[in-house]
Order: sequence, then structure tokens, then C-alpha cells
Amino acid sequence: MKSMKLFLTAGVLAGTFQIYAQEQSEVPEVSPMPMKPEMTEIWQPEVEVVTPAKKLGDAPSDAIVLFDGKNLDQWVSQKDTTQTAPWEVVDNDYLQVVPGSGMIQTKKKFGDIQLHLEFSAPDKVEGSSQGRGNSGVFFQNRYELQILDSYNNRTYRNGQAGSIYKDHAPLVNPMRGPLEWNVYDVVYRAPRFKENGLIDSPAEITVFLNGVLVQNNATINGLTQYIGLHDYPESHGNDVIALQDHGNKTQFRNIWVREL
Ligand code: MG
Repeated sequence: MKSMKLFLTAGVLAGTFQIYAQEQSEVPEVSPMPMKPEMTEIWQPEVEVVTPAKKLGDAPSDAIVLFDGKNLDQWVSQKDTTQTAPWEVVDNDYLQVVPGSGMIQTKKKFGDIQLHLEFSAPDKVEGSSQGRGNSGVFFQNRYELQILDSYNNRTYRNGQAGSIYKDHAPLVNPMRGPLEWNVYDVVYRAPRFKENGLIDSPAEITVFLNGVLVQNNATINGLTQYIGLHDYPESHGNDVIALQDHGNKTQFRNIWVREL
């Protein structure tokens, strides 16, 4: 009985193969088109020409200059956005926080950007941990890239310079001393939201501090908060870049963005 079953199965399989083979032979043979080099070359539209700055780190031709030492025309007070930014421009060179005057923010709103910003801790070293040279860059007025004098200044690792505050610690600490300038170069991708307001894809950030990678396409987990876990409580569109007044005379210079 067992051998009979096997025989039948083999017969059915053979029949199936015959039908399959017949169907196959009815399909006309198509030989793949031979590839030529130009088939994978895209010419239009031509890539836009951007003139790089003479000095690496200065603004290229398509950048929006937010601060170049001259004035605060691109900034307003966060307390009252009809008022000019209350921080001090020193020696037509750099910008300094006026402690207690509040945060400042750009007039213009941004989405995805490349940002270049230079900062220096207060010349006089005072305080420790989060109290020393604290400030911060808030992308879309919500997500903080920490600014702190993290040169010989221990604090919690996800709160030092190069961190996404209380979200991601920097990969390393390449800070320079308080009398020197530090350089941030950032690629920021704004979060995307669904129509129902829930998060679709969170914000992402890549940060170089003094040319050293400190955030490698990190996923920002949400609104920066001092207390509590971070999430995306509401959807938003483009928004301002804000700089934090944390009571320390942190200095800034050479700030520019490129919209992506
Ligand atoms: Mg801060």
C-alpha cells in the first residue's frame, strides 16, 4: 500500500512538471537589455553651484548668516518677540549672554538645516557642573544641543557639551579651554508628524564639536525637559532657533545656517 502511494505521488508530480514546462515554453524569451555606462548617468537638473568660504568654517554663498559680529538683526527676545535681542555684541566680534535677560531666538523659522556656531565659555571660570558656562542651542525651539564649559568640569554625561540634553551623551569630549573658541557643525533633520498629530519619524541630529563627531545621526527622543522623559507631545512645523540664557556669560560668534 505504501509503495502504491509513492507511485501515485510520483505520477502526479511528473504530470505537474509537464504542464509547468508547457506553460513556460509559451512565454516569449526576453533577453535583458545590455547595460551601457550612460544608462546610470543623471545629468538634469545640474547640481547647484555653491561657493565655499575662503576660510573653512565661514559661511558659504548659500548660507543665511545669523550672526557675523556686527549686529543682532536676525534675532529677537524670546520674552517679547517684538523686542530686539537683549544680549551684548562685544567689540564688533562676538555676542555675549546678558544673564537674566532671557533667551533669544531667530526671527526666521527653520526645518531641516545645517548649522555652524562657535561658542566660548565665560572668560572667568566660575561654578561647577551645570553651573559653569551653561547655555544651549534649541532646534525648532524645542530640542536642546547643550552648551557648557565641559573642559575639566564633570557633570552628568547626558548633560555635558555635545549632548542632546538629557537624551544622548556625546560620543567623546573634545572641548577646548574657556579662553578658546569651540565650533559646532550640525546636521539637523526635523521630526515628521502624521495627520493625526502623532510622531511619524523623530528628529535626527549629527554633531561635530571642534571637528570631532559627538552625535552620529542620533534620534532625538522628544521635547527637551529638565524633569521627566522626553517625547513628542504635539506636532509642529518649522520653528525658530533659540539660544539659552542660563545665567552665564557664554559667548557666541560666526553663526550661520543652510536650509536643507
Ligand atoms: Mg543649557
